[in-house]
Amino acid sequence: MEISWNFRFGIVILGDSAVGKSSLLHRYTEGTFDESRKSPLGIDFKVKHLDFDPGVLIKLLLWDTAGQERFRSISKSYMRNSVGCLLVFDISQRKTFDQVRSWHKEVVEYVKPATMVFSLIGHKADLEAQRTVSKKEAEEMAKELDMTGYLEVSSKDNTNVDLAFEMLTKEIYSQF
Ligand code: GDP
Repeated sequence: MEISWNFRFGIVILGDSAVGKSSLLHRYTEGTFDESRKSPLGIDFKVKHLDFDPGVLIKLLLWDTAGQERFRSISKSYMRNSVGCLLVFDISQRKTFDQVRSWHKEVVEYVKPATMVFSLIGHKADLEAQRTVSKKEAEEMAKELDMTGYLEVSSKDNTNVDLAFEMLTKEIYSQF
């Protein structure tokens, strides 16, 4: 039976290759983490219903720009209908953090004049011993880019996964 929902929000998951976008989407929608699973090529799409406030059911349309493809080379039609973005980097790979600004800029320029709500995600938080980006500088980046906030997440340990999607959804919802 079709679930009846009150709101429908499109969310895109962006960031460099191998930061764990596909694992994050999988953990959130399927509740599993599989180290040997291959990222799908192209674009992956999943739906999740979120019981928000009492009486408010939100249907999330989740897009993962899986694989190595750069944002500009993939079909962008899904981006037009999205209102939120989880911008993901890997806390153990400094270069993925250094790309955050350029990902943000590309999206902002693409969706103009519409706006997009962003959250910054420091992924693979379980790799604390290999950390290359401090929490403070990531928080400062999120602030500078006017994002909803910064959250450290591990799909492997299932830390803050639900919270990451909920934090973003809450902000989108508050703008309605
Ligand atoms: P994508 O290219 O951004 O979609 O990244 P994938 O989801 O394919 O993940 C890239 C690699 O990072 C894979 O080997 C995953 O098993 C691993 N990975 C994903 N999430 C985590 C995490 O939370 N912690 C750790 N330690 N590894 C992760």
